[in-house]
Amino acid sequence: MSPDTGPLYAEPMSTAPLGLGEAHFPARAPQRLEVSFEFSPPKTEAAERTLWETVTRLTPLRPTFFSVTYGAGGSTRQRTHETVVRLKKETGIEPAAHLTCVGATQGEIDDVARAYWDAGIRHIVALRGDPPGGIGGKYTPHPGGYANAADLIAGLKRIGPFQISVAAYPEKHPDSTDEAADLENLMRKVDAGADRCITQFFFEAEDFLRFRDRTAAAGINVPVVPGVMPVSNFQGILKMAGGCGSKVPAWLASLFDGLDDDAETRRMIAATVAGDLCRRLQSEGVEQFHFYTLNRADLTFAICHLLGVRPQRSSS
Ligand SMILES: Cc1cc2nc3c(=O)[nH]c(=O)nc-3n(C[C@H](O)[C@H](O)[C@H](O)COP(=O)(O)OP(=O)(O)OC[C@H]3O[C@@H](n4cnc5c(N)ncnc54)[C@H](O)[C@@H]3O)c2cc1C
Repeated sequence: MSPDTGPLYAEPMSTAPLGLGEAHFPARAPQRLEVSFEFSPPKTEAAERTLWETVTRLTPLRPTFFSVTYGAGGSTRQRTHETVVRLKKETGIEPAAHLTCVGATQGEIDDVARAYWDAGIRHIVALRGDPPGGIGGKYTPHPGGYANAADLIAGLKRIGPFQISVAAYPEKHPDSTDEAADLENLMRKVDAGADRCITQFFFEAEDFLRFRDRTAAAGINVPVVPGVMPVSNFQGILKMAGGCGSKVPAWLASLFDGLDDDAETRRMIAATVAGDLCRRLQSEGVEQFHFYTLNRADLTFAICHLLGVRPQRSSS
């Protein structure tokens, strides 16, 4: 955005009443809004086709980056690499590779990172990962491995000047004793060189906004980007949220009540709920959003459309 135009949307919308109209849905895309999309590496040929259809649909939205998850214990090491490299080659959008510390020595993780560097990949989402027994178990670092995400970032920086994103937890990581300890851990990651914090999914805008205030008060001066999970499989999200410490509010459960056998209505509700969450955050000046796409385009595309993010047309 050119400096003389000023924010196009944040100020009017912060005072706008809820409802339809120009103030709520600006006619053109806010120029500063940035989106990124997270995928997981496909396991089957059918899943691979679905992923690339999704990528084809979302690429014209010109996200800041695509990111690709790393399966528990490094189980998708090869597939993550292949997906990241193909995204770079075929979309022209910079991909980010997720990398965890679980189940590998520092040397093995360094080899993975070096292979990314050699393939021209410059952005890593650096994570500790969950215990091999699954979320909820006690985490013990691999002997000779990186102890946690901050330690991993230090290792990555020795390999090359990667851009680094890290995970953050508006409702606190389940392993943290309290919010202060969780924030200290985030500060260690930023001090180690993280350029961006991407949050775990959450459903109450206030949880994110309070967290953003806490990070600002703590002097964290890199972007804190909300991770948005459009929920269409409510039972699946219930299970996932239980493990990662995200609370599922009663109002959300009530919205999905009675829809277990009605996927179409669930998707409409999902777009409304996630769209409203994003609009609320946008009205509070949030300008970057990271979407957990679950490898599907439709909900993410619809929410981006609501936010004013449209496919880029050529300017002829
Ligand atoms: C955006 C995002 C993407 C993700 N992608 C993946 C993925 O691709 N693959 C995957 O397996 N998982 C992924 N996860 C999940 C993540 O691996 C788990 O949440 C994991 O339990 C913590 O990882 P972390 O990088 O946040 O860990 P860290 O920041 O290292 O630490 C997590 C917790 O461990 C404790 N801790 C760490 N260091 C210390 C210390 N020095 N002293 C005391 N306590 C400490 C703290 O309680 C801290 O909150 C993702 C999460 C998010 C939010």
